[in-house]
Amino acid sequence: MSEDLKKAIEKTVDKILAIESAHKDLPILKTNNPSELREVIGAELPQDAVSFDALLHDFETQIAPFLNRNTSPKYAAYITGSGNGIGPVAEFIKGYYNQNALKWNNSPIANELEQLVIKWIADFIQLPAYNKGFLTSGGSMSNLMALHLALAKHCPEREQKGFYNQQPLTVYCSNQTHSSIERAMVFLGLGRDYLRKIEVNDRYQMDVPQLKSAIKKDIAAGLKPLAIIANAGTTNTGSIDDLEAVGEIARQFNIWYHVDGAYGLPARALENHFEKFNGVELADSIIINPHKWMYVPFEASCVLVKEIPKAIHFEPDYLYTENKGSRIESSEHTIELSKEFKALKIWFTLKYYGAKQLGQFVENDITLIAHLGEQLGKHKHIEIEKEHALSIICFRWFDPSASDDVNESININALRTIEKEGEIFITGTKLKGKTYLRAYFGNPNRTKEDVDYMVSKIMGTFQRTIH
Ligand code: PLP
Repeated sequence: MSEDLKKAIEKTVDKILAIESAHKDLPILKTNNPSELREVIGAELPQDAVSFDALLHDFETQIAPFLNRNTSPKYAAYITGSGNGIGPVAEFIKGYYNQNALKWNNSPIANELEQLVIKWIADFIQLPAYNKGFLTSGGSMSNLMALHLALAKHCPEREQKGFYNQQPLTVYCSNQTHSSIERAMVFLGLGRDYLRKIEVNDRYQMDVPQLKSAIKKDIAAGLKPLAIIANAGTTNTGSIDDLEAVGEIARQFNIWYHVDGAYGLPARALENHFEKFNGVELADSIIINPHKWMYVPFEASCVLVKEIPKAIHFEPDYLYTENKGSRIESSEHTIELSKEFKALKIWFTLKYYGAKQLGQFVENDITLIAHLGEQLGKHKHIEIEKEHALSIICFRWFDPSASDDVNESININALRTIEKEGEIFITGTKLKGKTYLRAYFGNPNRTKEDVDYMVSKIMGTFQRTIH
């Protein structure tokens, strides 16, 4: 490492610490509009080199003031992980060595570590048989890859012939399933019209009899069921489908069974939550996002399988290698070719904290979300959606003496105010046609005091909204 780089890193660390201390009491959410940001960051391509000090100054003035603080315990919005204390160290090392895992021989250690951390993740969630797969950038990419695997198994003709003159394929999920499945239908050319969104019961779980009758109806109409996607922690409420019942149906009809555990599956590491996921072991493919509830810095998601179905083999002359032996060429299975050394930050995180402490972090999030529910529930007009299986809670203002429209607008306005003020960040969703506020916890640094602060901010906002 050059002396210049070493000095630059030291200065950067000092700068980050100074910025952090200067920003500590500022809103965590920035509300600038695009034109304000564009004005500050400018548009001109830099022609001449600048000194490192000038660069750091530009970072401090043009970028840092506008960074949302997703790492703050006051952030409880989208299912976006907080990262963790050791993650940036791994990210720095990754950048320094600049490995590209595109082929095994181009970075043997990145490729081997990828398979190792996949095994560790499978062990962490107590599914050791699912010790193969690949890392991807996020849950959306992993869901896409899982549907690609389903096609590789159940529609191998697609590889050569595409979908021309083939029986239309149908995919089944609940109406609570993450939108990345619908996007995958579009990207894979399966078509939105062939995604069956099955209704849910009052615990937001897929209605299994409806699933079965939808499959039968499609078969009778000459369609071919390809895959069922079950949820192990939905984005809206954290609900977990009856994974056993859904898996049985997949088996009965010989359909690929995919479980989306992008958010929820880390809770399976905990003995007192393990049973909620019974039936996940029937899956053909599973996804989990270390960058969500395993606190690994973005981006890191993972597709887990027991056996990787036959890869699509592409080996142009410029990528040909001999003597492959037991090498796994992940690029033959994924969309990417060039691939960063994602496994390193997962390896650092799992080693630095250990599975036991990571499990305690997950448990802490679940305990604190229950605390949030208890504290909010003490207030007269707060209605808590009862199902909160993991670390998500949905709630709303409900005054029985007010009309539905009035109650609805109080919740919508409260959400707007919270976002505008930026002191805490929670988002909203719709359940059964009504607007709910929704909090997600996934931050090992959050304490009961942080939660109490959130409650006071939320209730203060509601009070101001109704007056
Ligand atoms: N699946 C579930 C259940 C999710 O909650 C999310 C995101 O929140 C995704 C998939 C998509 O993951 P990503 O945002 O990493 O693409």
